[in-house]
Amino acid sequence: MSSYDVAVIGSGPGGYVAAIRCAQLGMKTALIEKYPTLGGTCLNVGCIPSKALLDSSHHYEDAVKHFEEHGIEIPGAIKVNLEKMIARKQGVVDMTTKGIQFLMDKNKIDVFEGLGSFKDATHINIKKSKGKSETIEAKNTIVATGSKPATLPFIKLDKERVITSTEALKLKEIPKHLIVIGGGVIGLELGQVYKRLGAEVTVVEYLDRIIPTMDAALSKELMKSMKKQKAKFALSHKVKSVVRKGKQVIVKADNKKGEEVVFTGDYCLVAVGRNAYTDGLNLEAAGVQMEERGRVAVNDHLQTNVSNIYAIGDVVKGAMLAHKAGEEGTMAAEILAGQKPHIDYNLIPGVVYTWPEVAAVGKTEEELKEAGVEYKVGQFPMRALGRARASMDIDGFVKILADKNTDEVLGVHMIGARCADLIAEAVTAMEFRASAEDISRMSHAHPTYSEAIKEAALAATADRALHI
Ligand code: FAD
Ligand code: NAD
Repeated sequence: MSSYDVAVIGSGPGGYVAAIRCAQLGMKTALIEKYPTLGGTCLNVGCIPSKALLDSSHHYEDAVKHFEEHGIEIPGAIKVNLEKMIARKQGVVDMTTKGIQFLMDKNKIDVFEGLGSFKDATHINIKKSKGKSETIEAKNTIVATGSKPATLPFIKLDKERVITSTEALKLKEIPKHLIVIGGGVIGLELGQVYKRLGAEVTVVEYLDRIIPTMDAALSKELMKSMKKQKAKFALSHKVKSVVRKGKQVIVKADNKKGEEVVFTGDYCLVAVGRNAYTDGLNLEAAGVQMEERGRVAVNDHLQTNVSNIYAIGDVVKGAMLAHKAGEEGTMAAEILAGQKPHIDYNLIPGVVYTWPEVAAVGKTEEELKEAGVEYKVGQFPMRALGRARASMDIDGFVKILADKNTDEVLGVHMIGARCADLIAEAVTAMEFRASAEDISRMSHAHPTYSEAIKEAALAATADRALHI
């Protein structure tokens, strides 16, 4: 029987990062993945393919709607070749997942393909295809088995027309009318892909705003932008039934007044969150305790109640984000090596890759109000930037929340072109506990979108933005 210092179960951005860090720290490491390709949800059916389709559809929308204004004329009609678009996406996925295999080889990590399940706290059975199985011994195990799409109890996901994000990444036709249940990250990103490609898109959201966990100002501005793109929204609607009839999908919901509203489309994307995934792991055999919503219970050191078993990423509490999973992978490995790493969860940025992009870090205005913190707000609109006018991406703003007394930056919320990348400046500043004045005195290259951060910081410091 092969024996390891560490076995990592699951090869997503949590698991593969944990495996690399364990190997770097000198541990003999095994990585167990049930699917033939490595990379988990993120690389195979999550972050990477969704961004590939967002980019392709963005190019198409630019060509159709904006090229002419830029003085670019394309003779003849511009058409979408969906098959080719999906094939390009798959090419990006394949290249990226192969990259993880390369990294495993480079770091001398033994990769096992098969379903990992605990026999006891130090032995893991790996069930391979064709009924074969193998058991390995592991002094320590890091569980990184991720998550799966959630649904509603009355919905029958047929995966053809009533679909999750996984199917939405490989449709064979552009929907005529895509009904999206859930105005969160997945619903809006994938809804926007098909909106750009020509589908009618209706987002049905239970709460009274989209992206409800983010600062309310971002919800409002994103909805405004997406409405300009002709997406439709039904907020405060409680979906009560989803029925497929031939090529039609009929979604019924109750609105705020309790009236029944019927939506008829040809596809329905169910995007109401994700659940931790532990099926087949047999955690009971190792004595590992769970907590609410099927997650593995861990302490602040990502350790379960069984001292040699750790858990990270989507399968434990916290934001379901690839970079959060990766940070936890590093942390678990370093703890096993006797180090004392730390993650500041307040500084894990959140990004929605729609256009305009939405990005945030730290506390929202709603959270500060609820906590009774005295704060000040500095906000600067993208449209006042020369760079934004040059590229005609003028929607959005940067909003900085700073402590009223100390001027320390407590939250940065932005929506606009390239915000997914701009948010890194805010994370850096907050990691070093910058004040709004610190940011306002840093030189920002002109003309760039980053100038909106400087201007918002000036506005927060002393209401003295320069360009508005
Ligand atoms: P996963 O990536 O889910 O990996 C878990 C792995 O474990 C899987 O490969 C699974 O097959 C394997 N596994 C499970 N059980 C077993 C077992 N018993 N034995 C062996 N293997 C097992 N996050 C972002 O930060 N940015 C984004 O832009 C983004 N976009 C997304 C878009 C979509 C459409 C979706 C669905 C998600 C997106 N996410 C994004 C979320 C991100 O994908 C997850 O937060 C991330 O993948 C979690 O990583 P993980 O390592 O915890 O788990
Ligand atoms: P989400 O939690 O972001 O959004 C789910 C939405 O569905 C919420 O707005 C919620 O109010 C709504 N909802 C719940 N029940 C409903 C009902 N019965 N009727 C109508 N609406 C309902 O979840 P998601 O969009 O499915 O994404 C899942 C996870 O994947 C998220 O945690 C997210 O962090 C991650 N993800 C991240 C990115 C990114 O980082 N860009 C992209 C995609 C997914």
